[in-house]
Amino acid sequence: MSAATQSFELVVLGAGPAFTDQAGATGAAYLLRHPDGMILLDLGQGSFPRLAGEMEPSRLDAILVSHLHPDHFVDLVPLRHYLRWQLHPPRHVRVLGPAGLATRLDGLHDEPGFSAATLDIETLDVGDRRIGPFTVQTALVTHTNESYGMRVSVGDGPGLVYSGDCGRADDLLGLIRAGDVLLSEVSFGAGPVPGDAAHLAGPDVGGVAAATGVRAVLLTHLLMGRDRIETIASVTAAYDGPVRFVDPGDRFGIGTT
Ligand SMILES: [Zn+2]
Ligand SMILES: [Zn+2]
Repeated sequence: MSAATQSFELVVLGAGPAFTDQAGATGAAYLLRHPDGMILLDLGQGSFPRLAGEMEPSRLDAILVSHLHPDHFVDLVPLRHYLRWQLHPPRHVRVLGPAGLATRLDGLHDEPGFSAATLDIETLDVGDRRIGPFTVQTALVTHTNESYGMRVSVGDGPGLVYSGDCGRADDLLGLIRAGDVLLSEVSFGAGPVPGDAAHLAGPDVGGVAAATGVRAVLLTHLLMGRDRIETIASVTAAYDGPVRFVDPGDRFGIGTT
């Protein structure tokens, strides 16, 4: 497989945390585009319109949900409605997520079978799977009782490692290979992370980036009131590669120079 076909594009649709005062900062949603297929990592609150503005959502090969916090999955509700009511005949999209995802969505409408009308939900597990042109590797991370970090690649090309929400940076070590791009939550900015919060801060991200030799660090999921400049400085204190925050509409080549 040539380098060109091993590369793919990350399109940021939403990069916000669970709540914010920043208008337009919608929940986590990261579209990965390749000429032979597209997958979506998470679909948090408010991000469905950007997905639908970017592409026809029923063309997704799959959606992977990192964990069952609404800022990572609740816009599956508007997606379900779109697939059911906007398209004739209705279409289905494959969704892989932690156990209980369908029950939670059905509960929002108090309607058994609500999600199954258009979402083909499968239980996610630890390991590797092929979805369209992509290889998706998942590992458990410390956050809820079932939260996943993910590495996505095409062939043996460079990957994108997505932390999801993660309370222990070392949980990502098994996913990251040298030359990957790390898309990491940095909820608590420059830190410190309170003892009861299962999230990361800049020094945690910088440490794992330096230890693994990633090509670049993309930061996301910054809590309200935290400073971006200080946060980036807290990452670059340990890691000397490129570091930046991502925003909706940003596009990055993964595996391209
Ligand atoms: Zn979150
Ligand atoms: Zn969370």
